[in-house]
Order: sequence, then C-alpha cells, then structure tokens
Amino acid sequence: MQENSFDAVILGGGLGGLLSAVILAKAGMNVCVLEKNRQVGGSLQSFAFQKTAFDSCVHYIGGLKEGHSLHQIFRYAGIMEGLKLHELREEGFDQILFGEEQNSYPIAGRAHFVEHLMPYFPKEKAVMEAYLEDIYQTASQFSLYFLRQGNSEGKIASMSLTMTGHLRALGASERLLQVLLGNNLLYSGVADVTPFYVHALSTDGYLHSAHKVLPASSQIAKLLWRELQQQGGVIYRHVAVSRLHEGAGGIEYAEASDGRRFYGRHFISSIHPSMLIQMLDGSGLRPSFIHRIQALPQTPSGMMINLVLRPGAYHYEACNIYWHPSGDSLARPSAEGLIWPDTQALFFSEDEKRPGYAATVSILVYARLEDYAAWQDTENIIGVQHRRSEDYEAFKEAQADCILKKTFARFPGLKAAVSAQSVATPLSFRDYTGTRDGSLYGPLKDATHPARNIMAARTRIPNLLLTGQNLNMHGVMGVSVSAVATCSELLGMDYLLQQIREA
Ligand SMILES: Cc1cc2nc3c(=O)[nH]c(=O)nc-3n(C[C@H](O)[C@H](O)[C@H](O)COP(=O)(O)OP(=O)(O)OC[C@H]3O[C@@H](n4cnc5c(N)ncnc54)[C@H](O)[C@@H]3O)c2cc1C
Repeated sequence: MQENSFDAVILGGGLGGLLSAVILAKAGMNVCVLEKNRQVGGSLQSFAFQKTAFDSCVHYIGGLKEGHSLHQIFRYAGIMEGLKLHELREEGFDQILFGEEQNSYPIAGRAHFVEHLMPYFPKEKAVMEAYLEDIYQTASQFSLYFLRQGNSEGKIASMSLTMTGHLRALGASERLLQVLLGNNLLYSGVADVTPFYVHALSTDGYLHSAHKVLPASSQIAKLLWRELQQQGGVIYRHVAVSRLHEGAGGIEYAEASDGRRFYGRHFISSIHPSMLIQMLDGSGLRPSFIHRIQALPQTPSGMMINLVLRPGAYHYEACNIYWHPSGDSLARPSAEGLIWPDTQALFFSEDEKRPGYAATVSILVYARLEDYAAWQDTENIIGVQHRRSEDYEAFKEAQADCILKKTFARFPGLKAAVSAQSVATPLSFRDYTGTRDGSLYGPLKDATHPARNIMAARTRIPNLLLTGQNLNMHGVMGVSVSAVATCSELLGMDYLLQQIREA
C-alpha cells in the first residue's frame, strides 16, 4: 500500500467522523481522519477562558445512562467507562420559563414527567401520558435508535406529521404545547414545519437520562481519538480537504488545501453536503441531487455568550433554563430582527471547589449570519487566526450587551456575579465547524416536504458515503446512530448491531 493510502479516509473529525473511524478501525480497517482544525471534535470542542473550561456547543447529552442505545454505542466504541458524567436533576433537567411569569415548568425524566407537570396542568394528565407514549412509539419507528433492524414504513408515515399539529391533535392546550416544545432550541423547531419525529428523537434520550460531561464534552472526542490510536487509526489535523478527485471507480484521493493527497478505498464525509459537493471535481452525482442539496433550507445560526462567574456568587442547580421573553417558545428571529433576541437557553456548570455554586453560564440564542455579512470573508480559528477588525468586536459586544440586558433583568443577581465574558457569533460557529452559514444543526427538516428529509448514507459515487448530523439527525445521539448506519454499509448491519449489543 502506498504512503497516505487507507482502507477508509474520513473527512471531518467531529463526532460523526471520529465515531465512524473508531467503528471501522475496530473491525480491522486501516483508517485516517482529516480534520481542518487543530482541535478535533467539531461541535464537541471546548476552550479555556480565564482558566475556566467552556463547551463550545454541546452542554448536555441524553441517553448516556445504561439501558439506552447511546450508552451501548459509546461502550462499544470503548469510551463509556472513561467519561466523567454529571447527572442533571431527574425531576426537571430543563426548566421552561415564559416572560416575567414566576412559574418554572419542569421537563423531568420519563418516570416522573407527568407527576412534575401535573400541578400546572391538572386537567391534562391523559394528554401528557399520550404524549409520552407517542414519543416512544415514534422513536421506535426509527429502529436503529433502538439498535434494531426494521422496515421504513412507520418511519415514512411519521415524517409528514408536524410537531405542533401532532400535539394539537393530541388535545394539548396551547400552554402545555408551549411547555412541551419549550426546549426546541435543541433542535431548532419551527411551528407547522418541524416534524414530530425530530422532536421525538431529540427528546427520547433526555427523558431516559440527561448528563453533562466533565470537565467538558470535548472529553468524548479525546477518548475517541485515544481509542482510534489504539486501534491503529490516525488523525491528520490542520488538513482542510479542498478537493475530491474522481476516477473511473469513484473517489481516488482527497486533496488538502496544502496539496497533500490521501488515497482510499472508501471515503466517508461528515462535512456539510453542500460544501462536499463543491469539492467534487467530477460528475458522479446526479444534477437533481446536487440541486436538492443546494436548495435545502438550513437551521439558523446562533450566538453563545460565555460568562465566568465569581466564586460563590451565584447558586447552581443541576438543570438548564429555557427562557422565552415574549411568552412564545416558537418565536424565531424575523427578517427585521424585531423580536430578536427571544428564546434564551442558559447552561450552567458547577464550581468543583464550591458545590452548590455555579462557575460559568453559557447563554445560547438564535442569530443571523446576515447580520455579520460585513465580516463574512474573514476567518478566525486557532492556528489560522486573523483577528477580525475592531468594528466586528464592537458589533458583537453590542449584540451581547443587548442579550445580557434582558437576561440580567430576568435573573436577579446574575449581573453582579459575572467576572468576564466571551462571545461566539455565527461566524465563530461557521469557522469552527465548517457548517454552511454557521447553521447550528445542518439542514432543516420539514414535515411539509418529507422527501427532502431523507438522505442515504450511500451516494451515487460507489465509494463515497455520508455520515454526521447532515445525514439523519443532529445531536450526540442522532450523529452516533448515523455513524452506525454509515459503517454498517461497509461492515454489514447484522454484524455491527450484534457487536454493539454484545459490548
Ligand atoms: C451551539 C450548539 C449547541 C449544541 N448543543 C447540543 C447539546 O447540548 N446536546 C447535543 O446532543 N447536541 C448538541 N448540538 C448538536 C451536536 O453538537 C451536533 O449535531 C454534532 O456534534 C455534530 O457532529 P458532526 O460530526 O456531524 O459535525 P461537526 O461536529 O460539525 O464536525 C464536522 C467536522 O468537520 C470538520 N470539517 C469541516 N470542513 C472540513 C474540511 N473541508 N476539511 C477537513 N475537515 C473539515 C469540522 O472542522 C468539524 O470538526 C449542538 C450544536 C451546536 C452548534
């Protein structure tokens, strides 16, 4: 085998790429991962600010407790035992708040879900029970989520149900609907568009268990990297793939922007498909497929404000807060930006030295890349850092101040507890993960155009496969299941599922 030649070349070292690499390497394949950044992990990256660890994206994960498929997949990948987990409150891992209202509606684990919402919705017990059952039944249609083989009939039927339409059909009052969809920033839900299955698959894992990874979710990427090395695989960092050379039998090699070539029998891409298409130099894909991919609407981008808190200054509760200032959990940034910023998600971390007090809080809101158009030709990532201009810094701080003014008014005591802040914008998300327009979760799923939501792991180019959040579902759970689906194309589904179940 020539140098830089592999059984599988994997494009992108986020969760999808790393997990696929580990699965294939465990099956004896000679694998390499090409990652454009210095830090692997994609949305699992973390960073230190003022000597404090922050997650860049992933703040909590569903389904890591024993008994759920994600736990089993991570066990098979050899990383479960190395993860240090912090469990969020089972009686309300998420708290949903509206406007100035004092009620804090808890989203609790499955066993206590109804009991904890009953005080607020005493007449809707049956609706809540039916909702829980529907989450389970809908998720079950996607058999791979339960590490089973299955047919696609039920799955296809559920693709055209919207989350809002389905909850109304169940008889949920408008306030209960607002609460059940209150954490929709997790999957960028859109009223009358987002399919119920997207809500169900995003929610099912959290209803089972909700954890933070300590000290940060980048541990998952680090452990996968270690496991990959142990299995003989290799990661090339600072390798930005710019071109895929197509020959008669499919892709021959991936070329990096510095000219290096990586040859392979198989290529697996976790890169956003519309970026991937631009890298192909042949005509292996159908024009209709290319057109469909390029036309897919994307989930919006976001801003994350990371606050370092003074020791012992702000209490910690093991839960996240989703606050909807306008009272509407489905409000979205409008073209005029009139209601911006609305939904805010607050993710806290506990101070190890002072249990009961928070060390940090990260605030996520939707944001529009268009607002940053003036700086869209600049790039700022560690290793290729071109500091953006002062007017960019001023603009982003002004936007952060606008968000924080609202936050501080709603959460008394928080302002006085802050000692430092750092802000990530849509450009940061774009540059660190390579997603189109800084989109948080890739293509937007649309129940009114169900066929658009389907993307197969196999492409028309015989040795090019897709994986990652752009394939089926985003999120740690969704991307892990996609890695299994993709690798099963090379290893066989029966074999792989058996290996995972027996791990
Ligand atoms: C702000 C935010 C918050 C989130 N919060 C949560 C959460 O709390 N819980 C949860 O479960 N999920 C969460 N998610 C979703 C979850 O993080 C993602 O769905 C998942 O991590 C995506 O993994 P991926 O491998 O598909 O893509 P990515 O993580 O985006 O990885 C793609 C990789 O490809 C690399 N790449 C791109 N282009 C190139 C190129 N040309 N050459 C080489 N490498 C390239 C990128 O640098 C990146 O490392 C969040 C996402 C975001 C953005």
